[in-house]
Amino acid sequence: MSLVVQKFGGTSVADSEKILAAARKAVRAHQQGHQVVMVVSAMGKNTDTLIALANEINEKPPAREMDMLLSTGEQVSVALMAMAIHSLGYKAVSLTGAQIGIKTDSSHTKARIHSISTDRMKALLDEGNIVIAAGFQGIDDNFNITTLGRGGSDTTAVALAAVLGADQCEIYTDVDGIYTTDPRVLPEACIVSRVCYDEMLELASLGAGVMHSRSIEFGKKFNVPIHVRSSLSDSPGSLIVDDAGTSSMVVSGAALTRDEAMISVLEVPDVPGTIYRIFAPIADRKITVDMIVQNVADDGKTNISFTLPRDEAEEAVAVITPVLEELGGRMAPVDSNVSKVSAVGLGMAEEAGVAKRMFRALANSEINLELITTSEIKISVLVSRESALDSLRTIHGEFKLDEVKSDPTTNSELIRSPEQASPVEVIKRLQVIGMESLIIDDISLDDTQSRITICKIPNEPGLAASLFEQIAGDGVFVDMIVQSHNSEKIADITFTVPRDQLTRALAVAEKASSEHGCEGVVHKQSIAKLSVSGIGMRSHTGVAIGSFEALSRAGINVEMISTSEVRVNVVVDGDDGEKGLACLHDRFAEELGS
Ligand code: ASP
Ligand code: MG
Repeated sequence: MSLVVQKFGGTSVADSEKILAAARKAVRAHQQGHQVVMVVSAMGKNTDTLIALANEINEKPPAREMDMLLSTGEQVSVALMAMAIHSLGYKAVSLTGAQIGIKTDSSHTKARIHSISTDRMKALLDEGNIVIAAGFQGIDDNFNITTLGRGGSDTTAVALAAVLGADQCEIYTDVDGIYTTDPRVLPEACIVSRVCYDEMLELASLGAGVMHSRSIEFGKKFNVPIHVRSSLSDSPGSLIVDDAGTSSMVVSGAALTRDEAMISVLEVPDVPGTIYRIFAPIADRKITVDMIVQNVADDGKTNISFTLPRDEAEEAVAVITPVLEELGGRMAPVDSNVSKVSAVGLGMAEEAGVAKRMFRALANSEINLELITTSEIKISVLVSRESALDSLRTIHGEFKLDEVKSDPTTNSELIRSPEQASPVEVIKRLQVIGMESLIIDDISLDDTQSRITICKIPNEPGLAASLFEQIAGDGVFVDMIVQSHNSEKIADITFTVPRDQLTRALAVAEKASSEHGCEGVVHKQSIAKLSVSGIGMRSHTGVAIGSFEALSRAGINVEMISTSEVRVNVVVDGDDGEKGLACLHDRFAEELGS
C-alpha cells in the first residue's frame, strides 16, 4: 500500500478553519487509498509567542526548559488535528516525538535525530488510522524533550518519509511552491516545477527560505521526493528530486542574503597552516563563515577575505586579532554593509559563459563586485547593501527567471523514485552512519588546470565582465573564479583554466591587465584542485576547517579557496595534488560513507 507523509506548517494550521482544511486534505489522500502520516507545526506564530514569553521571565532561559516549552506548540496542533479528523468521521491518533520514538542527541534547541522507530506508527496505520506526528521534537537518551531548531518540522517530515519508505513527502505551506527567488523580495519571481536537491540546498541556505536545509539534506541522502505545495489552493507546486530532468535552464534560481559582513585579512604569510590558524578559532565559536576567498600570494604573503552574518562580525574580529598578532599581517576595516547575491543552477556545470553573462549584466547595471566565488552550480558575488536588490533583479532578469512557466501536469502523480532507499536499507544505513551525520560523497583531484591571477585591479564595475567576455570569446573554459579584496579600491582576480589553454588565456589576461591599468599578471602552470563534496556540509561546518587542518598537518600550502553549500574547493601546488588527496581521504575516512 502506498504511503504519503503530509506536513502542514504553522500558517496552514493557524486557526480552526485551517486545521479542518488540512484535515480534509489528509482524509482525501486516505480515501484515495493511501496510508497517511501528517506532520504538524505549532499553530501560526505560537512558537514565537512562547519564545517571547520565556524571554519576559528569563533573559537566558535554560535550553532544556526552552525545549520543554516550545514542544507544547506542536502538541496543541496534533491533538486538534486528530480531533478534526475524528469530526470528519475518520480514525486518527496524535503522537508526540517521544511517543513516536524520535531519538535525538542532547543539544537542546538544535538537536539532531539519531534514530526513529517505526513500529508504533506502522501498527496504527495498519489499523486504518491517520497518524498525526508532532513536528520539530524528539527525546534524548534520558527522556528529555528536545527540539530540532527553528523550522524543524520540515526535517521531521522528510525523516519520517525516509524511515517509512513513503512514496512521497508533501510539504504544505503558505506559498504555492518553490520560486525562482523570494517573491516577497521580487514580485516577478516564478514557480519552478522541479528543482534538484543540490540546487535547493544552495538556495535554501542562500536565503530563499522555503525549507529547513537539513530537511533537504535528508531528502537527498535517502532520495525522498519532496513535493512543496500550497495548503490554500490546489496549484501544482514544486518537486524537489534527485535530478531536475527536463530543465533546460542554466540558472534555476537566484538568492539574496542581505545582512552580511566582509572581513579581509591582508598580507598574512602564505605558508601551510595559515588558513587553518585563522579559521580554527572562528569554527570553535560556531560562527558560520560563508564565502571564503583566498587569492594568490604576492611576495610570500596572501590575502584572505570571507563573509559572515553581520551580527557575528564583532566576535570574529575579536578571535582573529590575536592570531594575526602571532602570524603577522593585518586586518582591513570590516565592511558590514554588504550583501551576497547568487545564481544557482545545475546547468552551469556544463555550460561555459554563465559567469561572464552574470558579470556583464551586473556591470551594465553599474554594480561593483566586492568578492566573487564560483562553484560547480553556484556563482556568488558580494555587493554593497544598497545595490543588493538591484543586483538580484538584474540576475533574475538576465537568466529570464521571470519568464519561467510551471508545468501543471508534472505534479499530479505520486512519484516514487526508483533510486529511493528502501525502508530496510534506510534503517541499516542509520545504524551505521546515523540519520544526521555528515556524509562525504566525493573527494577528488583535478590536476589538469593552471591558474592565472591579475593583480591589483582597480575595483570598479565592468572589469570582471570584460575580462571573462574576452576569455570566453577566445574559447577558453574557465572553471574556478575568485575575486578577493586587497584594500579600499583594489582587488585581485584569480581563475583556473585547462592547462592546454593557458597560453591563450594568458595573452587575453595580459591584454586586459594593461588596458585596465592593473599591476600585472602572474600564473602557475601546474596546480591541483582538491574538492570535497557531500551532504550535511552546511549543518556540519567542520568540513572546510577539517580540510584546512588536514592540509596544514601534511605541510601543504593552500593557494586558493572557494566554498559552497555542497562543496569545498581548494587549490594547491600541482606537486602536492596526490598527497593532498590522500590526506583528505584520511581525514574524512569515517564520513566517506559506503
Ligand atoms: N514550530 C517550529 C518553529 O516555528 C517548527 C516549525 O514550524 O517547523 O520553528
Ligand atoms: Mg515553519
